[in-house]
Amino acid sequence: MDPLLLGCPNVAGSGADAELLAAAQVALNRHGDVLRELGRVFADAGHELFLVGGSVRDALLGRLGNDLDFTTDARPEQLQAMLRGWADALWDTGIEFGTIGVGKGDDRLEITTFRADTYDQVSRNPEVRFGDRLEDDLVRRDFTSNAMAVRITADGPGEFHDPLGGLAAVQAKVLDTPAAPEISFGDDPLRMLRAARFVSQLEFTVAPRVVEALVEMAPQLQRISAERVAAELDKLLLGADPVAGIDLMVQTGLGDVVLPEVGGMRMAIDEHHQHKDVYWHSLTVLRQAIDLESDGPDLVLRWAALLHDIGKPSTRRHEADGGVSFHHHEVVGAKMARKRMRALKYSKQMIDDVSQLVYLHLRFHGYADGKGAGRWSDSAVRRYVTDAGPLLPRLHKLVRADCTTRNKRRAARLQAAYDDLEARIAELAAKEDLARVRPDLDGNEIMRLLDIPAGPQVGEAWRYLKELRLDRGPLSHDEAVEELTKWWNARGDQTV
Ligand code: ATP
Ligand code: MG
Repeated sequence: MDPLLLGCPNVAGSGADAELLAAAQVALNRHGDVLRELGRVFADAGHELFLVGGSVRDALLGRLGNDLDFTTDARPEQLQAMLRGWADALWDTGIEFGTIGVGKGDDRLEITTFRADTYDQVSRNPEVRFGDRLEDDLVRRDFTSNAMAVRITADGPGEFHDPLGGLAAVQAKVLDTPAAPEISFGDDPLRMLRAARFVSQLEFTVAPRVVEALVEMAPQLQRISAERVAAELDKLLLGADPVAGIDLMVQTGLGDVVLPEVGGMRMAIDEHHQHKDVYWHSLTVLRQAIDLESDGPDLVLRWAALLHDIGKPSTRRHEADGGVSFHHHEVVGAKMARKRMRALKYSKQMIDDVSQLVYLHLRFHGYADGKGAGRWSDSAVRRYVTDAGPLLPRLHKLVRADCTTRNKRRAARLQAAYDDLEARIAELAAKEDLARVRPDLDGNEIMRLLDIPAGPQVGEAWRYLKELRLDRGPLSHDEAVEELTKWWNARGDQTV
């Protein structure tokens, strides 16, 4: 083991700091071969190399993955020349910002030339300027916890650089800016959203002066592109404590800029008056949905849980009996989710999935509350499965998570009713191919039987048979032919 990190003069005094550095040492040793080889390449070329930013922070926190960030005095073209022979793969997509991407074994490395940007105070776009000193690079980073560096040499990790108190910040689990937060956020307003993201990801809190600056400067987040905002929101939602990250956004006003519908739920009282408001209900559902995840963090499920009730404030009605209703809030909410996610430039698939889950989240309620038949017909169960399609496992989790009543008996009743629904689905699925509900006759047979050419009438017949299939389950071939013929004759000569 290399003798390195602990040699740092400004951390010698504290046992807790020594412990953190020892943890970092272990994390870095896992990448020892790559670090030594890379250190050799830079030493031979006469350049300096430092592991930096999130990688150093994550090593200290024992959560370093295979993404490693470096900074160097070498310019991008020099980097390309130096690394060409060593890297498994090279990417230059970030070259105008001074970044070269490298694939080596399982590791993905990003190596960025020291930056010493100035900010155009009108457009606030950084003018990329390269620097010569590590300290100038560190001071322009977003948070002190992200502004530490470890020198990498041919012997592996070397001395630890922490001119801005990053180690103390990691120790205290606090996010603070290297300089005054107002200046930092004015230079790049995205940093404000990154604060909320790190609150979720790292479970840190935010320094009081940073909170003040967030409140004051939140509207400036408007200047940031939808793509950059969405990337941070996704990381926030996928973090360890998205509820804390979202609540920081909402409390400081960042949410008003990028996700106003979520803070907007603070106004509406939920129908059972069980919770402070729909906003806290939604955050509880998000937390409960996360608890139900079985296969790692699920971005679609988390988005759907957060947004499932955003239609409530605009559909709230005070009823004559003194109650409150939110009729069709799932329909309105699905539309609102679609609109917001489109504005944030999400993929069509992502938008379709999240809005469909929002749309379906309420349907189960007719099953359990004894208002309907108490138990759905087979047809209703088939429709539930068909409408959810591949989203069904997520819908199960969302609906179960959407029970936040503190009445234990009621909660147990709802979960038992959902168990019952899942059992019904399994029962029907064993009898029928529920995952692929299709009409019992295909388009070619419809054309042959009715003696009609391809066209809208075939589609109409196909949809009729699909509805029948949903209502009655699979029909025999003869039954299907008989039903089709009956429908066609009753339909007469209408044209479509
Ligand atoms: P993760 O990789 O988990 O997303 P990270 O901290 O590595 O977290 P990146 O977005 O990869 O975050 O950025 C790498 C480093 O670059 C950060 O740790 C920080 O030092 C710096 N950085 C990134 N974005 C900014 C920014 N907008 N302003 C200032 N510094 C930034
Ligand atoms: Mg990173």
